Amino acid sequence: MNYITHLECSLCGRSYDFDKPQNLCPQCLRPLLVRYDFRKIKGKKPSQVLEPLRSMWRYKKLLPVLKEDNIVSLGEGLTPLIPAKRLGEELKISNIFIKDESLNPTGSFKARGLSSAISKAKELRIKEVVIPSAGNAGSATSAYCACANIKAHIYMPEDIPESFILECRATGADVKLVKGDISDCGREARRDLEKNDWFDLSTLKEPYRLEGKKTMGFELAEQFQWELPDVIIYPTGGGTGLVGMWKAFKEIEELGWIKGKFPRMVSVQSSGCAPIVKAFESGEDFAKPWEKAQTIALGLRVPSAVGDFLILRVLRESNGIAVAVDDEEIISAQKKLGYLEGIFACPEGGATLSALEKLLKMGWMNPEEKIVLFNTASGIKYPVKF
Ligand SMILES: *Cc1c(COP(=O)(O)O)cnc(C)c1O
Repeated sequence: MNYITHLECSLCGRSYDFDKPQNLCPQCLRPLLVRYDFRKIKGKKPSQVLEPLRSMWRYKKLLPVLKEDNIVSLGEGLTPLIPAKRLGEELKISNIFIKDESLNPTGSFKARGLSSAISKAKELRIKEVVIPSAGNAGSATSAYCACANIKAHIYMPEDIPESFILECRATGADVKLVKGDISDCGREARRDLEKNDWFDLSTLKEPYRLEGKKTMGFELAEQFQWELPDVIIYPTGGGTGLVGMWKAFKEIEELGWIKGKFPRMVSVQSSGCAPIVKAFESGEDFAKPWEKAQTIALGLRVPSAVGDFLILRVLRESNGIAVAVDDEEIISAQKKLGYLEGIFACPEGGATLSALEKLLKMGWMNPEEKIVLFNTASGIKYPVKF
């Protein structure tokens, strides 16, 4: 059904088997990436490879699940790419689109990664999983685990909006609240998973969530008739969205489906937690952990990402940039997306518009370029009081 060959360490390049559960590279403790051999489908047209499915599983030949029966799906992906005409008029730019991920199951793009990861967990006969989460990853894990009959243990900061706790419990997860941020949740989760036989689903600590995230890249390409946009602005926490899309572009380039330039990738973070921006600006290959991370954009409150060097590589290879925006700017951008485009964006989605405004002011792009903003979740999940 597909073309997976092995898992490869993103730092040292060592190979690992995909027929048993794997987390980080045991040698360098960095992420493993899924590798495929696409020679059999090279030169075929997308229409000969894609399935007529109304979910991200239309790309299943480019995804890691071996048996159709193991796919755990709630209809994730195939989200709208909305031409933002009124926003474009306001900003005096002519070619701006919003990829609205809020239409995913559980209301965020995290559904893509977890549909893929839980499908693989089912295939590998994993019975219990654990994940530290700032909210959206937890509720997506809980939902997909319910479908797969896998027990989910979710570790979330105790100051998380109650809606996330209720959502996780409603779909059957065991929720543990932890003092501190997602790094503290990760620490507690690791301590408990060693005592129990749980599989770690932390961001980029298993190889398959990234594979689900990469479908955002396939979709963008397909929605633009296999011609990539000039600039993609993405709110970056753990970095799976950005790194996943870049992986997708490379894979479909190998298949011969896209030609021409790749987009310049922009990472947006909150000025209250901007380790990637700091590392990018100071020319570092790895990011230092951020102290006292604080922001209303909960998905961006990631003080330390295990895939930091992968994010930085994508930014540099694509001629992109990293931008920090303040919480007040995020809130006014959220409002603007609401009254101009009818989208109640999450703060992370708002952050992409604040970044765009900054980049236009800096003259970093020209007004005719094709630009995509990502709204990664619905604003209704943790409404900010305007
Ligand atoms: C998790 C999350 C992010 C950050 O995602 P990464 O791809 O891991 O960087 C952004 N926005 C929202 C709403 C999220 O839940």
